[in-house]
Amino acid sequence: MHILHGSNPFAVYPRIIGHEFAGVVEAIGTGVTSVAEGDRVVFDPVVSCCTCYPCRAGRTNVCAKLQVFGVHRDGGFRSHIAVPAANAVKLPPEMDFGLATLAEPFSIAANVLDRAGCGPLDTALIYGAGTVGITVVQVAKMLCARGIVADIDAERLERAKDFGADHVIHSATMSVADGVKGETDGLGPTLVIDGAGIPALLDAACKVVSPAGSIGLLGFSAAPCNISQQEIVRKELTLVGSRLNRGMLPRVVQWLADGSLKPEAMITQVFDAREAPVAFALIEKEPQNTLKVQLDFSQS
Ligand SMILES: [Zn+2]
Repeated sequence: MHILHGSNPFAVYPRIIGHEFAGVVEAIGTGVTSVAEGDRVVFDPVVSCCTCYPCRAGRTNVCAKLQVFGVHRDGGFRSHIAVPAANAVKLPPEMDFGLATLAEPFSIAANVLDRAGCGPLDTALIYGAGTVGITVVQVAKMLCARGIVADIDAERLERAKDFGADHVIHSATMSVADGVKGETDGLGPTLVIDGAGIPALLDAACKVVSPAGSIGLLGFSAAPCNISQQEIVRKELTLVGSRLNRGMLPRVVQWLADGSLKPEAMITQVFDAREAPVAFALIEKEPQNTLKVQLDFSQS
């Protein structure tokens, strides 16, 4: 929605948007061996140069020449697209395109939890029960962590419970600090993920997180926030930013294929692509009834 409305700083119109997309390979370029005509694939929208320092360090998602389909170059909201073969991830035959298209949003969750570190010892507090929060809590649970979601909207929190949250905090009626003070023997969550992108939450996260904990940031706000060094040093916190994903899609497709993740219920509506304006209007009018609204371009 940010990209649609022009509030993503990297997406400049004219642009065909769409960075979560899957389809059938109709033709391949010379020398391509990783995919064949007729293969069903999902696409990683992140295109990297493979030669700059971040790429050589394995951090291809922050490539100095980063290009993202649907953001820096034309994306998937169309019936045909040409992409580098390296960005096409083959799907198992039984996986439908609706489920496959969730691989990209789950790669965002996988990336931030990989950056922050997440495992059975962790209790993850996730700010925001929107799409990002819902994907992060599912991946955190899959990684055997405890998952807590905080949001101001009670209906969204019910949805977070349906997707596996162990505990939810209605932050309109109680403080998040009170909601998590019993966690980890009273030390607080070991991991805090800001899935809401609100600058003030970083200060709050530093206060509620356990000593030796980690904070993962996904928001892109340019607004400054006040944080004191004291909490970061006293608790020896790890603060990580996480952008897009670094080659996570094959792993996520595997999780979707073997049932480690079962997010089908996130697809709340599917529209024929010709109905796109109706689909976008629905998301804006009824955010409580929409999570992933998908467009089908196969008839267009
Ligand atoms: Zn690069």
